[in-house]
Amino acid sequence: MPRDNSTSKVSRWDGHGREHVVRVRRTGVQRTISCDTCGWRRGAQFLPWLKAEEHLAEAHQATVDPSATRQPSR
Ligand SMILES: [Zn+2]
Repeated sequence: MPRDNSTSKVSRWDGHGREHVVRVRRTGVQRTISCDTCGWRRGAQFLPWLKAEEHLAEAHQATVDPSATRQPSR
């Protein structure tokens, strides 16, 4: 896991194997999360990664964590 104090991102794959990325940016005490796929944004003070995952799952049906799984063998 990269340890970046100001930005980080959550990426998930959808059922079609497409990657969706939500970036988490720190702005003072708040964090702003924004989706690369659809431009969705929101502020989150706590657990921005959880909100990012929720968005990815609800808006893009992207629930597969690429870092948690090995490359599919095909
Ligand atoms: Zn989105």
